[in-house]
Parts: sequence; structure tokens; C-alpha cells
Amino acid sequence: MPLLTDAHGHLQADRFNDDYQQVAQRARDAGMVRLLIPSYGIESSDGAFRIAPDLPWADLAIGIHPYTAVADAPGRAALLQRATDSRVVAIGETGIDTKRDFAPLAAQIENLEAHIEVAAALGKPLILHCRSLDDGDEAQRQLLATLKSSAISAPGGAKAFGGRVPFILHSASGSAAYVEEALALGGAVSISGLAFRPEESATGEWVRLIPRDRLLTETDAPWLTMPGAPDPRRNEPANVGLTLAWIAERRGEPVEPLARAIAENYDRIFPRDATLPPRLELAL
Ligand SMILES: [Zn+2]
Repeated sequence: MPLLTDAHGHLQADRFNDDYQQVAQRARDAGMVRLLIPSYGIESSDGAFRIAPDLPWADLAIGIHPYTAVADAPGRAALLQRATDSRVVAIGETGIDTKRDFAPLAAQIENLEAHIEVAAALGKPLILHCRSLDDGDEAQRQLLATLKSSAISAPGGAKAFGGRVPFILHSASGSAAYVEEALALGGAVSISGLAFRPEESATGEWVRLIPRDRLLTETDAPWLTMPGAPDPRRNEPANVGLTLAWIAERRGEPVEPLARAIAENYDRIFPRDATLPPRLELAL
């Protein structure tokens, strides 16, 4: 059984209210060894902290999604102060979204910059969402431009992250050129069930080009259900093996060693606070 890693599963989402512990147990039974519960706003960040004691083996990220860049702005500074919490291993998800018009671009950029500042100050990587409308790439171009003009790309910027990756392209979507530019900035790339969609066919090409030590897998549960998932209406972490198998096939690699490399990437990218009990062993 491969070691499963879900670098992005929203177990605090409403749709898991009644059964998040069973959902987490199903993931463990399927071989999951690493789970990161990212947030997408103030309420879901509170939710992540609320369920954290029940899932001591998992990790958290807090942040504000571009969708609520305006709505959550008044509480942003207070929220980001909680990023120092030992359970929080990353900042996000945040980013740029021009696919849905939920917040003006200027507000999204300001929101992203505030997150970058905290990430660089704490040396915790950013989890970045980025989607453009149809075949466009304006969100991707804006994201790269903001990263390039930030502390991450400044001289010594990498030092803030102790040489670790400064950001993760979560549920990566876009062209090979975009992904290559993000890799050149030191980022890692996380693949979700989005990769199965016909309009994301480019992923099947560039997934082979990602250096093995910069690759992660995720579900974005409860969203982005992939073909073959038992419940098409609600994705869950246990399903990440389907995406892992797809990646392994595209890269022409055997699944199990790739799965182990991804779990090891997770540990390198999201180091755990030394005051916490260690993560699950990566036993064979
Ligand atoms: Zn997400």
C-alpha cells in the first residue's frame, strides 16, 4: 500500500461537520500518513483550530482565500497573528482568482501581500490558489508578478524560509511556462483531481517535468472529486491515491517509491514544530 499524502484537505468544511473523524480514519486506513488542513477564510481558520485537537497527526494552515479578500479584510491582521501557533505549518490558502469575480483584483493583491509578509517573517510557506477565466492566464501572471516583487524574490528572500520552498502552487492549474516559472522561483507544485478535467490537459504534459523533490499530492476535499471516487458529490482525503496513481503513470514511475518521496517532500516543505509529538512514521 503506498503512503498517502494529502497536502490540502479541508476537513473543517461544513460538509465534514458530522463525520470528519471517520473521514480522517478512512484516510488512515487507506494508508494516509500526512494531512494538511488549510483554511480559506476567518471562519474556516477558526474551524481548523477547532478540529485540530481531534486530529493530532495532521497539520494546519490559516489564511484568507482571494474570494473573501474584501469580506475578511477587517479581521485579517488578527487572524494572521495566529500563524505563530505551533500547529500552523503554512500560510493559506490565499492567492489570485480571476475566474470568479468575488473580490476586486487590487484587494486580492493586497490580501496576498499581507500573507507573504507573514510567511516570510515566520519562515512558513504560502499555499497559493490561482485560477483564471477559461483559457486565460491573467491570474497566473499576476501571481508571479506579486511573488517577484515580494520578500520571497528579494535578495536573501530564500533565507527567510531556511532554504525550504517558499510557496506551494495548490491544485496547480495553468501552462507549462507558468509552472516552470514558479519552480524557478523555488516553489513546489501540488496536484489535485483538477488534473483529470479535459480543460486542464496541460497538466498531463508538465507533471513529468516537475522535479521529484518539489511534487505534492492533494485532494482539496470536499471539492474537486476525481473520476473513480466512491462519492462523486464529496471528495475526501482517502481518494488521493487516485491522483497519485495518475501522476505515477504520467511520469512513468512506480507508485510506491513516488508516494514515499512525496511524503518526504511534505516533511521537508512543512517542518513540524519540535514541541509537538512527531508525525506518523513512514514505515514500509
Ligand atoms: Zn482549497
